[in-house]
Amino acid sequence: MPGARAASAREPTVALIAHDRKKGAIVALAREFEPLLRRCRLLATGTTGSLVAHEVGLAVECMLSGPMGGDLQIGARLSAGEVDLVVFLRDPMTPQPHEPDINALVRACDVHDIPCATNESSARMLLRSLERDSEGAADS
Ligand code: PGA
Repeated sequence: MPGARAASAREPTVALIAHDRKKGAIVALAREFEPLLRRCRLLATGTTGSLVAHEVGLAVECMLSGPMGGDLQIGARLSAGEVDLVVFLRDPMTPQPHEPDINALVRACDVHDIPCATNESSARMLLRSLERDSEGAADS
């Protein structure tokens, strides 16, 4: 997968972030890709991470809540080379108080060429691609 460093020795790290009206969608995605995500290291903003941990039973390293700086924390980890893929389900219909932080995280993905899905369809495509990569790695 372009930009992903997932093929390296460590397990891929996936960051999960969802705005409030997308929380149900991120839980559904996490359920759908649970076997894959169980083999990944997961980072998430605070509320998203707790929800995925409680509802799906995945181990998630939770940052601060997004509006309190969680997106920036994920951006910092990503800039340090510690994140391979971002699923960031944004709510395009609701103004967010931390819009500058959201833009900073998406910009960091572009700067470092890290795949970033901002809606469910693209998230599915990226996760399927990661799934194929990890199956290929397991076969070799
Ligand atoms: P949350 O943050 O997971 O803490 O709700 C997400 C965001 O709004 O960036």
